[in-house]
Amino acid sequence: MDQANILIIGGGVVGCAIARAVSARWGDVFLVEQNPNLGMATSSRNSGVIHSGIYYPTNSLKARHCVEGNRLTYDFCKKHNVPFRHTGKLVVAANTHEEADLEALKKKGEENGVEGLRLIGPEEIRKREPHIRGSAAIVVPSTGIVSAEELVHALARVAARQGAEIVDHARVVSLEPVAGGIRVGLLIGDEEGAQDETIEARCVINAAGLYADEVAGLLGNNSWKIYPVRGEYCEVRGPRASLINDLVYPLPHAHGLSLGVHFTKTLWGTVLVGPTATYVEGKDNYEKNRLPIADFADSAKALLPEIEEKDLQLGYSGLRPKLVPPEGKGIADFVITRDPKVPEAIQLVGIESPGLTAAISIGNHVGEMVGDILN
Ligand SMILES: Cc1cc2nc3c(=O)[nH]c(=O)nc-3n(C[C@H](O)[C@H](O)[C@H](O)COP(=O)(O)OP(=O)(O)OC[C@H]3O[C@@H](n4cnc5c(N)ncnc54)[C@H](O)[C@@H]3O)c2cc1C
Repeated sequence: MDQANILIIGGGVVGCAIARAVSARWGDVFLVEQNPNLGMATSSRNSGVIHSGIYYPTNSLKARHCVEGNRLTYDFCKKHNVPFRHTGKLVVAANTHEEADLEALKKKGEENGVEGLRLIGPEEIRKREPHIRGSAAIVVPSTGIVSAEELVHALARVAARQGAEIVDHARVVSLEPVAGGIRVGLLIGDEEGAQDETIEARCVINAAGLYADEVAGLLGNNSWKIYPVRGEYCEVRGPRASLINDLVYPLPHAHGLSLGVHFTKTLWGTVLVGPTATYVEGKDNYEKNRLPIADFADSAKALLPEIEEKDLQLGYSGLRPKLVPPEGKGIADFVITRDPKVPEAIQLVGIESPGLTAAISIGNHVGEMVGDILN
């Protein structure tokens, strides 16, 4: 049986950011990922936006780690050659009725410590985005986009260089508290030839994304239930992608379900329309009953009247690990906590958007929590 100081479950952006932070301070760090490669789940099925932090309740973990993570992500990308573009973005009020909500959003952003927010009118909107129609907009200078996949791999590379052992095809199937730590049961390898292995770790970190509730359940903690909420994208075909210059968002969904169907000019010059937000059954249900393209065109037209259904083609989709049930309302905060019954475990649950932006800040924060366990 292997011994570890720290074992991280999940090789998405959050697990890899934690691995980077903790391997800078401790040896014998393992990261285990059930898929054949890192970042194949939610971490590579998103908009790739480096968010600013304007949307989240003030003093929430989402606000704090997003604002801090925004700065840290740009720094990390520059240092480790991860492709990114610091674009800024517009949040647009489609008509005068939405302007009060727009101003409230700007105020919340300022309370969250987001710098440089500015309200503009239709003329300046047209100068920046000639095809977008709106009565007012917030300019959000700190927003940008990043190659999410390359960010995940760069974080993992740094962790590995610092000595972390990263194991793919490794699924955690049992967790058992023992004296001085937690015994972790693993299935290693392809489904058919998988081998059982055991590692005893002084500290276990649950960064299992959509499955974090089930992984917490392996330790007897059934406090959380994750509801997958699918976000689907369309892509704007060919030359019509030039209708959008950068990132353009509507006002967010009134009940906190999503940021609203927006336009994202990717690093590769394509334009995404989405993501939508639909509760689905199944944590791998990316494709069943995809929405018709007409639905995307309808949402998109509110800000970009020239767009037609024929300009769009279906793109990929991702699943948000929501803690708010279908009948619920509001925004649940990230859960980042020592397990109350098994204090050698740190649980990260409900790490939905802005988790990509927040990951490095979360990683540093979890590093401090690990210090309380190991020191
Ligand atoms: C449609 C959509 C758009 C988004 N857009 C943005 C955006 O623009 N900006 C932003 O900041 N955020 C965005 N997000 C949120 C962001 O993508 C997530 O918050 C982030 O990727 C979560 O990373 P993670 O590492 O927690 O989860 P994941 O990437 O899901 O990683 C968890 C990993 O754990 C592994 N795992 C699970 N169970 C086990 C087990 N038992 N054993 C071993 N491994 C296991 C999984 O295979 C998976 O690889 C978006 C999300 C969605 C769905």
